[in-house]
Order: sequence, then C-alpha cells, then structure tokens
Amino acid sequence: MSKQLFSFEFYPPQTPEGAVKLAATRNQLAALHPEFFSVTFGAGGSTQDRTVETIRQIKAEGYNAAPHLSCVGSTRGNIRAMLNGYKDMGIKRIVALRGDLPSGMASIGEFQYANELVSFIRAETGDHFHIEVAAYPEFHPQAKSAHDDILNFKRKISAGADSAITQYFYNPDAYFRYVDECRKQGVTVPIVPGIMPIVKFTQLARFSDACGAEIPRWMRKRLESYGDDNESVQTFGLDVVTQLCEKLLAGGAPGLHFYTLNQAAPALAIWKRLGL
Ligand code: FAD
Repeated sequence: MSKQLFSFEFYPPQTPEGAVKLAATRNQLAALHPEFFSVTFGAGGSTQDRTVETIRQIKAEGYNAAPHLSCVGSTRGNIRAMLNGYKDMGIKRIVALRGDLPSGMASIGEFQYANELVSFIRAETGDHFHIEVAAYPEFHPQAKSAHDDILNFKRKISAGADSAITQYFYNPDAYFRYVDECRKQGVTVPIVPGIMPIVKFTQLARFSDACGAEIPRWMRKRLESYGDDNESVQTFGLDVVTQLCEKLLAGGAPGLHFYTLNQAAPALAIWKRLGL
C-alpha cells in the first residue's frame, strides 16, 4: 500500500492576532508531519494578498505550502502573475478551483470552469506544480446530474490534475461509490477525503447549506438536541468523525485532508483517537 497522505487546510487570517494564532496552530499540527498545509483563496475578493502572505510564512517555516487558486472573476494575466510568484517562492503544489463569484460581482472573467484553469497552469508552467482539484462525493450543487459531475471531474484530471481533495461529507458510502464510479470512468488519481471536524452546529449547518454537503438526519437531530451545549456537540462530533475516518482509511482512502478552520485541537483529537 502506498504512503497515506495527510494535510491540513487553513484560511488566511484577517488580523495580526489571527496570524499569531494560526502560527501556533501550524506549530502544533506540524508535529504530525503532514504532507502539506493548504491556504484558501477568496475568489474575486480582497483577501487574496493574505493567501500569498500566509503561504510565504508557511514556506519560511520550512513546511510544504499549497495555495488554493480560484479562477472565476480573474484573467489569464492575473493567474499567470500568481503562478510566477508562487514558482519564485518555491511552491510545488496548487489546489486549482473555479471558486464562486462574490455576490454583486458581475464578470466571470476569462475562465468559466476549473478544468480551464488546470489546462492553463499546465500550458504555462509544464510539470512544475502538483495540481489538486476539488471532487464532490455528494455532487456539486450546480451540477446538471451526478453523471455530469463525474464527467466534469474527469475533465479536470484529463486537463492535467494529479490528485483530488473532496468536499466534506459524513456518509462514507457516498465517498466509496463516487470513487468506484470515477474508477469506472478510467480516473485513477488519488481522491483524498476532506474531513470537517464538528465544533459548532450552527456554523456547520450554515456551511453545509451553502456547499451542498449533507448532514444526515440522525446526526442533525442529535446535534440540534444539544442546543448551546458545545461540549456535547464536540464529544458527539469527535465520535462520529473519528468513526468516519476509520471507515475511510480501512476502505482504502489514500489519506485525509482536514478542514481545520484554523484550529488545531479538533484535528489533533481525531488524530489521537485514530492512533495515527
Ligand atoms: P468546477 O470543477 O469548475 O465545477 C463547478 C460546477 O460546474 C460543477 O457543478 C460542475 O459539474 C459544473 N461544470 C464544470 N464544467 C462544466 C461544463 N463544461 N459545462 C457545464 N457544467 C460544468 N472556493 C474558494 O473560493 N476558495 C477556495 O480556496 C476553495 N477551496 C476549496 C477546496 C476544496 C477541497 C473544495 C472541495 C472546494 C473549495 N472551494 C473553494 C469551493 C469551490 O470553489 C466551489 O465548490 C465552486 O463552486 C466550484 O469549484 P470547482 O473547482 O469544483 O469548479
């Protein structure tokens, strides 16, 4: 069996205090020797410089850093400049996404879908970058059909992506079936499950509604019943997410990518319970 890949995702902090806190989070998670730390990127937004700055800091600390790069609302010139900047910094891995236009932003720019970004990165920089793309075991909310979404995923791989990270999910069967269907379509790249620890129910419900990730009814009912009792939410969440990770790894998932929301403790607790 090939080496399992573990990685942690952050968002770029908005304040100097947030940056200090994130550095401490990184320090704790670095002890687990992840493959890389990735940093999200706000499509068409004003946070893009903070992604670059956070990536620079991670690299300066000696860790592998993977910037997310979304193309919606952007131009070839902008993307080229970002790619060259990352190359100069010694970055070797990019998470290539379409992104979502912020409300009120009218122009989708020069790229319509992520496969076009992947092709562009390959055309501009050859094999320099390891390219990750997004995959959706419960399907992307805008996909015309489940089958179309899989064909779209295949298009991103054919354009040159090396591996994928999934949207989070709590139903392992959705992941296994998705991977099976991708394999039937001839897609052989690693598809690493994205894992969202459960820390606060209201926040999780908001994210899930926005991105189309399902919180199974039995989980939602339990989480709702805890109300403001965050300790119970977290204890339950730790059990459920640890079991999910166990099933995924036992079933052949090539690793785990943790959506940390810039906190070390939830991912560390799952890690410890998994005995990794
Ligand atoms: P695409 O692969 O382009 O797909 C978007 C939709 O278009 C899908 O419904 C697909 O089926 C459909 N589609 C694709 N091609 C065609 C076609 N030719 N014709 C018709 N339909 C088509 N967002 C951010 O803004 N910043 C981030 O840092 C970020 N990081 C993420 C990390 C991960 C691991 C994941 C899973 C998501 C992330 N997102 C991020 C969210 C992502 O940008 C959104 O889910 C976005 O809506 C889709 O991006 P994509 O790259 O999957 O798009």
